[in-house]
Amino acid sequence: MKPHILMLFLDGVGLGDDVPHNPFAVADLPTLHSLSNGKRWLRDVGIQRTARSLLIPTDAQMGVSGLPQSGTGQATIITGRNIPHLIGEHYGPKPNQATRDLLDEDNFFKRVIRHGKTASLLEAYPPQWHKGINSGKSLPSSYQYALQSAGIRFLDEADLRAGRALSGDWTGEGWRTQLGYTDMPILTPFEAGVRLVELSRGHDFAFFAHWLTDVIGHRGTIAEATTLLTTFDGVMSGVLSVWDDDEGVVIITSDHGNIEDIGNRHHTANRVPTVIIGDQKDVFDDIDTLADIAGRMGQILGI
Ligand SMILES: [Zn+2]
Repeated sequence: MKPHILMLFLDGVGLGDDVPHNPFAVADLPTLHSLSNGKRWLRDVGIQRTARSLLIPTDAQMGVSGLPQSGTGQATIITGRNIPHLIGEHYGPKPNQATRDLLDEDNFFKRVIRHGKTASLLEAYPPQWHKGINSGKSLPSSYQYALQSAGIRFLDEADLRAGRALSGDWTGEGWRTQLGYTDMPILTPFEAGVRLVELSRGHDFAFFAHWLTDVIGHRGTIAEATTLLTTFDGVMSGVLSVWDDDEGVVIITSDHGNIEDIGNRHHTANRVPTVIIGDQKDVFDDIDTLADIAGRMGQILGI
């Protein structure tokens, strides 16, 4: 098998302080800690290397004043360019015209397609979301816009029911409780992790975005944040149980801090955790900012 990439993007996850309102300080996260030599994902974690993984605290500020935002942060990850610097500000949550122009110019989804390879966004969106996007009434986020710009289709309810997609909350619970699809199949976090890997194997580049971390960071409680990270820990135990380290790399990263400082309803300027899992992890060993990731992904895919 040629190496492939599974990127697990978490919105609003930074490296914060060892305080009671940081879920990374208080939650029991054995799987995440297995990726960082038992150390908690805090401000002082430093670079951590294990046999399987590499953790690098990554700069989301990128020399631009103001608090990092999703529109420009995601666009930076997916283009490999310092988008806030190029447009003169951190902007979000949705991309503005200047950011969309840069995403149209080039982005990693486009690059993959141009080289005759395949890419997919693994989460399914409900019918009302598709309606909003297709009618132009709602704006896609930067990674969604990048996908659209590359001519790749968004997955939907039918894909989710057939097991060809995952729910944005991993388990599918949100489709039942928030969207009213009371018969939607539910996965355990572990099963969701296994499915993420299985689905990623059908593509050279598979992207999965989880945005609840940012929502809880803006208006959630420490209990909700801790529960969410515990779910993610379960997802990662599923991922690690089936991922072969010689099949490519799994990348966890984020666009800016937020959930690590519960009670402060704004984003933070903290570094974010980037974790690379797989035999080729050292390709990423000199990354420093969010703009450094896409180029290394290109190296992995040979594009
Ligand atoms: Zn936010």
